[in-house]
Amino acid sequence: VQPAPAGLNAGAKHVGRDPREVLAEVFGYDAFRGDQDAIVRHVAAGGDAVVLMPTGGGKSMCYQVPSLVREGTGVVLSPLVALMHDQVAALRLAGVRAASLNSSMSMDERREVERAYVQGELDLLYLAPERLSSPGTIDLLARGHIALFAIDEAHCVSQWGHDFRPDYLRLGALAERWPDVPRIALTATATPETHREITERLHLGEAKHFVSNFDRPNIRYRIESKQNARAQLTQFVRGEHAGEAGIVYALSRKRVEQTAKALRDAGVDAVAYHAGLPSHVRLDAQTRFLREDGVVVVATIAFGMGIDKPDVRFVAHIDLPKSIEGYYQETGRAGRDGAPSEAWLAYGLQDVVQQRQMIESGDGDQVTRTNQTRHLNQMLALCETVECRRAFLLRYFGQETEPGTGAAPTACGNCDVCLNPPKLWDATVPAQMLLSTILRTHRERGRTYAAGQHIDVLCGVASERATQMKLDELTTWGIGKEWSVAQWRGVVRHMLAVGLIEARGEWGVLEPTQDAKPVLSGEMPVRMREEVLARAATGGAGRR
Ligand code: ADP
Ligand code: ZN
Repeated sequence: VQPAPAGLNAGAKHVGRDPREVLAEVFGYDAFRGDQDAIVRHVAAGGDAVVLMPTGGGKSMCYQVPSLVREGTGVVLSPLVALMHDQVAALRLAGVRAASLNSSMSMDERREVERAYVQGELDLLYLAPERLSSPGTIDLLARGHIALFAIDEAHCVSQWGHDFRPDYLRLGALAERWPDVPRIALTATATPETHREITERLHLGEAKHFVSNFDRPNIRYRIESKQNARAQLTQFVRGEHAGEAGIVYALSRKRVEQTAKALRDAGVDAVAYHAGLPSHVRLDAQTRFLREDGVVVVATIAFGMGIDKPDVRFVAHIDLPKSIEGYYQETGRAGRDGAPSEAWLAYGLQDVVQQRQMIESGDGDQVTRTNQTRHLNQMLALCETVECRRAFLLRYFGQETEPGTGAAPTACGNCDVCLNPPKLWDATVPAQMLLSTILRTHRERGRTYAAGQHIDVLCGVASERATQMKLDELTTWGIGKEWSVAQWRGVVRHMLAVGLIEARGEWGVLEPTQDAKPVLSGEMPVRMREEVLARAATGGAGRR
């Protein structure tokens, strides 16, 4: 290797070298994984690339190694400041000259990074996409030598995606400003729609596309109906994964803290993690999780990005995720070492009602709401499906065929549906009963009620609220006694999930949708998983 000339690239030790050697020498890995080799060589040679690779697949190497073997600085656009810090710190430990520019830096720090960049003393420079809206940043970039642009979390450019960020729309302009600099866009979201939008909006029409196999065969997917979330979770964590490391996701900070406490009370070594905790508490939770064995982190979705622990044995969700993309990303943190792991989710009627309401009362515009509803419906379809969960997921991510065999994904043998096929139950009669109760209540009262009241009416539950609201005077009082309250909750949940009814307004009052007509008239049967009812009837907390 020739000594680097002074000035541009002074000190860059790897320009023109074989990527495999750099991988070994700088990062300590023997070989590239999956598509990495092809991607690295393509980008190192100056080609554009679109990379769809699941969480944990090793996306960073795909731009870090080419940044080192090409002249100049690799400019990485990444939306999460915390993640940037971690990456930069890790790179520096490996001897790579990396830095970031972000709003939390002092003027002096910023000047120093800018100077180093302009003088060619940086291998990698991390930037938040919004910085590109300032002409100052564009001028700065123009004064240095750019090896490549890496656009991380590229799905953020998709308006239909689950994590749209308007700043990403500007990134298409990089192609015009720097037509000769290779660009690589990376994401773990692989729906065909998102893929198309990334290609279009980032002007990557000429790019080579690398779509990895999204299957994570060592993860067992399990989705069950929620009866007593705490008891079910404790059984899952303590009963089935005692002493193992795992992550439990909940939607709110309060739920995180309550759940962590409940697990601790049950003898599990659980710590809470959410953005509202002081940073030293969060850091402590994270450090314990990484360094010690068998720590369970109960967290909001703020936890996990950039955390790289190979032996996470389970990921549990006690609240319904808002999209399949989110669910897959979160569950993907299990089993990076390839050993058997579980993704477990409990969801119930309340989840469906709550999320529908959150969307309705959210501050987004109509487009946003439609979009969120679509994502929620897809998540619910996954929950209610009676086919293999994995086949469903892979199809969702556009993986129509099994790599190697070319066959469509079928039964995987490693999900709850495959291991314990649910029986279909003809729920047409209770479905019709619920629909007519809603309609009759409307006629008799000039309004309708939320799920809980309707279930009281159907079962004839003389609760305080039922008496107070004189529900027992309705003509439908007690007509559904044949089924238990828990069974009715299952029916209502299923109907909400598949869009036969809606929960509207602040109170979540039930209303039939257009789709309910053929059900009422008897033209369309309602089939749901019998397992929901069977387990509801026995209290539901049992393991299989
Ligand atoms: P992603 O961004 O796709 O979720 P990362 O880039 O964070 O994945 O990589 C996941 C883990 O895999 C990291 O610990 C990374 O160091 C490791 N890794 C990446 N490439 C290789 C490789 N070729 N050999 C071994 N480990 C690798
Ligand atoms: Zn399966």
